[in-house]
Amino acid sequence: MKTLFLTEKEIDTAAEIIKNGGLVAMPTETVYGLAADATNGSAVKKIYSAKGRPSDNPLIVHVSSVEEIYPLVTSFPENAKKLIEAFCPGPLTIVFPKSDVIPSEISGGLDTVAIRFPSHPVARELIKASGVPLAAPSANLSGSPSPTSADHVKKDLDGRIDAILDGGECSVGLESTVITLVPEKPVLLRPGGITHEMLESVLGEVLVDPAVLNPLKEGQRVSSPGMKYKHYAPKAKVVLIKSDDNNYYKYLAEHSTGKMVALCYNEDLSNIKDIHCISYGKKDDYTEQASKLFDALRKIDEQGYELVYGRCPGTDGVGLAVYNRLIRAAGFEVIEIE
Ligand code: AMP
Ligand code: MG
Repeated sequence: MKTLFLTEKEIDTAAEIIKNGGLVAMPTETVYGLAADATNGSAVKKIYSAKGRPSDNPLIVHVSSVEEIYPLVTSFPENAKKLIEAFCPGPLTIVFPKSDVIPSEISGGLDTVAIRFPSHPVARELIKASGVPLAAPSANLSGSPSPTSADHVKKDLDGRIDAILDGGECSVGLESTVITLVPEKPVLLRPGGITHEMLESVLGEVLVDPAVLNPLKEGQRVSSPGMKYKHYAPKAKVVLIKSDDNNYYKYLAEHSTGKMVALCYNEDLSNIKDIHCISYGKKDDYTEQASKLFDALRKIDEQGYELVYGRCPGTDGVGLAVYNRLIRAAGFEVIEIE
C-alpha cells in the first residue's frame, strides 16, 4: 500500500479516506492516533492488523462535541458531565457503558467504551469533516513508543496505512489519562496530562488502578486491557535508578559499558563525563519530560544502545504519567540507592 503524506490543508482528502473505510494517522495533543470510522467494524479491524495490536486491547473513540457521545453510551453519569465541563476538550478519556452503535471490534469484547474529546484543531476538523466518531489508538507499531511526530508515524507505519496527516509535534507527548466511571467509585486506569490531583479536585476520591504502578501478577484480571501488554519499550534494556544526583553519577561511572546510555535530565548533561547521554527534559518539569520522553526512547534505539540507566521521576502531578511509562519501558526494574 502506498501511504499518502497530507498537510493540514488536506483534511478533506483525509476525511474521504475515512468515509471509504481507510486508515489515517492524525495529530492530537497527546500522541498521533491511527483513525478509522468507529461505526465501521471492518475499517476498525484494519487498525489492529496495521499496528499488530492484540484484538482484545480496546480502542478509544474520538468525538468533536459532547452531543456526539450520547448515541455511543447507555448512560451518561453526572460525574462524566463534571469532568467534561472541567477538562474537555483535552487529554482525558472517560469509560462509559457502551451502546450497540459501538462495534465489538472497538471494545475488545467489553461492554464499555472509552471516549475522548481531543483539543487538537486538526483532529477536531477531521472528525467533523468525516461526519463519524473516529476509533484511534496510538499510531505506532504495537509495543514501540507512541508517536509524537509525523516522522515517528512514518517510521512505524509507512506502507501499512492509507495516509499520514502532518500536524507538527504533539504538545502533551504522552497518551491520554483514562478514567472509568463504570464502577461505584471512579478509577484512574492510565495516568496522563490530566493528573490524579486534577481529577480529585472535581470528583473527590479517585482510586488508582493497581496496574498503574505495579507489574501484573499471574492470572490477575485487568480493568484496562492495554495495561497487560508490554508497552513503550525500546529494544535496549532499561533500568531506572532512583537516587539523588551524586549517587546517580557514581552508579553510572561504576557500571559504564560501551553500548550504554544515561537517560537523564537536562541539568545532568554537564555533570556526566565520558558517558553517552540522552536527556528527557528538565529535572523539575514533568510537563517537559512528558513531551520529550517518547522521542528520547526512540533515539535510544536509533542510536543502537543496548543498556539504559534512566533517572526515575517523581510520582506527583504529571510525574505519575511519566513514571508509569518509564517503569513499563524498564520492565519494572528499579534500583533504589539511598
Ligand atoms: P491507545 O489508544 O493505544 O493509547 O490505547 C487505548 C487504551 O485505552 C488502552 O490502554 C486500553 O486498555 C484503554 N481502553 C480502551 N477502551 C477501554 C475500556 N472500554 N475500558 C477500559 N480501558 C479501555
Ligand atoms: Mg498505544
